[in-house]
This record gives sequence, C-alpha cells and structure tokens, in this order.
Amino acid sequence: MTTQQVEAHGIAGTGYEAVIGLEVHAQLLTRSKMFCSCPTAYFDAPPNSNVCPVCLGLPGTLPVMNREAVEKTVLTALALHCEIPPFTKFDRKNYFYPDLPKGYQISQYDLPLSRNGFLEFAVDGRGVRCGITRVHLEEDTGTLKHAGDLIHEATSSLVDLNRAGVPLMEIVGEPDLRTAEEAREYVTRLRQLLMYIGVNDGSMERGSLRCDANVSLRRAGATEYGTKVEIKNMNSFRAVHRALDYEIARQLQVLQGGGTLVQETRGWIETEGRTVSQRSKEQAHDYRYFPEPDLPPLQLDLAFVERVRARLPELPEARQRRFESQYALSAYEAAILTASREDSDVYEGLVSAGVPAKLAANWQIGDVARLANAHHVPLHRSGLGVAGLAALLRLLDAGTINGTVAKELLDELYIAGGDPQAVVSARGLGQVSDLGELGALVDEVIAANPKAVADFRGGKEQALGMLVGQVMKATRGRADAKMVNALLRERIGG
Ligand SMILES: [Zn+2]
Repeated sequence: MTTQQVEAHGIAGTGYEAVIGLEVHAQLLTRSKMFCSCPTAYFDAPPNSNVCPVCLGLPGTLPVMNREAVEKTVLTALALHCEIPPFTKFDRKNYFYPDLPKGYQISQYDLPLSRNGFLEFAVDGRGVRCGITRVHLEEDTGTLKHAGDLIHEATSSLVDLNRAGVPLMEIVGEPDLRTAEEAREYVTRLRQLLMYIGVNDGSMERGSLRCDANVSLRRAGATEYGTKVEIKNMNSFRAVHRALDYEIARQLQVLQGGGTLVQETRGWIETEGRTVSQRSKEQAHDYRYFPEPDLPPLQLDLAFVERVRARLPELPEARQRRFESQYALSAYEAAILTASREDSDVYEGLVSAGVPAKLAANWQIGDVARLANAHHVPLHRSGLGVAGLAALLRLLDAGTINGTVAKELLDELYIAGGDPQAVVSARGLGQVSDLGELGALVDEVIAANPKAVADFRGGKEQALGMLVGQVMKATRGRADAKMVNALLRERIGG
C-alpha cells in the first residue's frame, strides 16, 4: 500500500489500525529562564549572549525556581482538565549531549505537576477525546548548529546556550489517536489552547512548540500495542500529518511483508518526505533519574491552584459554541472567528461597538482577513483598528455609504488609519439615495442605451446589470444599488 492510498482510505480494510500518541514540548512565555534570571528572548540574540553561571551549569551554582513558569504550567494543566496533586518534585535526567552543559536536565519523573486530563476536538464532524497523561515542567537545552544535516555528515558543529534553561512544558498525550488527521487536529487544537491562555507563542517554525509522535500498528481490535517508533523533527502541522502517513504506510508494508519492526527513533526529512532511522530508543532507566537535590519539592495548596484557575479565560471550544448561539453564526463562521483569542476579541469589539453581528462576521472573515494577510498586519494592530472598522461598518449599516464605498474606504484606511465619517463628509462619498437625483440619472442612462433597454425588454435579464452599472459609474459608485434596480425596473418594465 502506498502513502497516497493510506491518505485516501485510512488503513481500514487492511486488518490493522494505527495507534498514535503525541508528546508536545512548549516553551513558556516567561521573561526569565526556569532557574536563573537570564532573559528567555533568545531567538534573535547573538549566540551565547543570554547566559550566566547557572544556565551554563558551572560548579557551585544553585537553581532558583521561576514562579511564573510553575503558574503557567498549572494554568495549562487546568485548561486540559488535569488533576493537580498537592505534592510534586523535580528530578535529574542524566545524559550527555553537547547542548546540555550540566550533563543532566532538570525535569520531572514520577511526581509530575499534573496528570489525567483530556483534550476534546472534532475531525470530520466526529468527536475525539484524547487523554492527557501528564503536563510537567522542565528546562530546555541549548542548540547545535551543524554544517550539514541528518543524512549528510556534518563537518563541524557549534553550540549556542541561549536556549539552555528556558522553561519548557512537556504535554504527554495518551495513545488515543488513530489517524494522521486526528494527530494534526490534536496539535492544532492544543496550540490554539496554549496561545489562548497566553502560555506559548505557538511558533512551530521557531521551535517554541515542538511535537514528537509515537506510532505503532496492531491488528484491529487487539488490546496489546505493537512495536512503537518515535518520530522527531516535525515542525509544522503539515509535517505531522505527512510524517505519520508515511510512517503508518512504512510499518504496514513491513508487517504485511512478514517482517518485524524495531523500536527506534526516526527523524522526519521534510525535503525528502520520509523518515530515517536515527537511533534505537532509550528506556527510562538509561537516564538514571533521581530527585534533584538542589530544589525543594513543591507543595501546591488548594488556594494556589484556585488562584491560578481564576486566571483561566473562556476557552476556544466554549467561546465557539457561545458565538454560534449568541450571535446566530454558523459553526464555520464561529470557528474562524474564534481561531485565536485576538480574533475573538476583535469580533466582540465590533459587536459591542454597535455593528450587527452578521455584518461584523462577514467583513471580518472576508475583506478584513484579506487585508490582514496582504499587509501581514492584524486589524487590532492596523492604522484603522477595531474602533475605526466599527465606525466604517456603522456608516454602511445606516445606509450613509454603500458597500462599494465601504470596501474602498477599508482598503484605503486599513494601514493609513483615519476617521471614516470625516473622510466620507470631506469627499462627499455619502450614498446617493435621493429619489429625484437618482430618477434623473436613470432617465439619462435609459435614453443613452436603447439597445440594452430593448434587450432587457426582450427578456435578457443581464442587460439590467449593465444599466445599473452605468448609473453607479455616473455617481462614482455612490448610488444606492437597490434603489437604482427598482427605478430601472419601474421605468422600463420587467
Ligand atoms: Zn542564566
């Protein structure tokens, strides 16, 4: 079976099913690192400029826990319906790698900050609930810059420790996913949630959100798991989907050919569309975890957890459902308008500024989204802003301007900014809906276009559009199109 066939049909009909569990690493949006006061804004900083003796792992230094990182991890765990045990501790995960100066990573092993949650979402209208095993807190490693890549041997590598010690959450999902589509939707929804609650910037390209997958195949209906393979290096939603599809097809081919799979870690090579073996998978005991002696265990009392819970905003799923009922929007419209917290806030800003709900939705999803993409500037950071757009749409709603003028003004003011009402008054852009004025124009157009009039009378409905267009042109697009239509029909019959 080829990858394409798996994409089209799943693996139904083969007698096998895929079992997928995802591990997502998310850097926390804190100002300072996990155990020192170095800034976390490492991405654009010169290499090895945001470092200190603590995150360099120099002897004699001691870690101090970042309170905000703990709070943001608890916030995430609560958003994922996890239990927060009253007692948690940190552990050392020992291994050697050049991007890990201490020779160990401070992480959590047997007593994580949270456990037993879930994330719910829909794929093709079907509800999926994926269990969350745990959300725990650890520190990020540094980064290596290789001359070369995974396949072609590197001739040299450079170490940058700016990222070492950045607070990192690990969100471990249960192996509840069955298809590449479900996996992609899980990551999409999880990213949306993390951004909604303000704990992560959602950038898979920059690596502040990273996803690894465990995937295995088993006979459909079996309860035991097959040999699992870990896939790393997927840095987009598309990569998650493609890598899993590829890996499911690869494993299926091995099993159907009577072969056996090896437990291993494989890397996704985006440019070649395949996974390649990297190393055999370590077992937990290889890391020789032991309790971190330099940090006291954390005891999170109920009052602390409740204080954090009070910081939870309305979550995207709930907000989407509320938009549907409160503003009478379709599921599609509500999903687009609640894609991010900013989008949702913009929409409710427009509505509370007096723009009818449906009108606000149409413009935000249509022309505003088009301009935001074209200029790479969202409305709330544009020159026009939410208040400006609301003013513009109120003029449209009141019939002061027509749709054509509204669209032109939006294009013009989106970046430049300005008061739509003032521009309309100054340039005389107000809609022409004076019966006398429009009637005279309609008569002129009828007199000047005898052929179109004859065509229309002869049953050619399109000819009317041409006549309406002439009147619009004469008013520089300002005529009330509905009124023009009615006047034309009245005078030439139809
Ligand atoms: Zn530091």
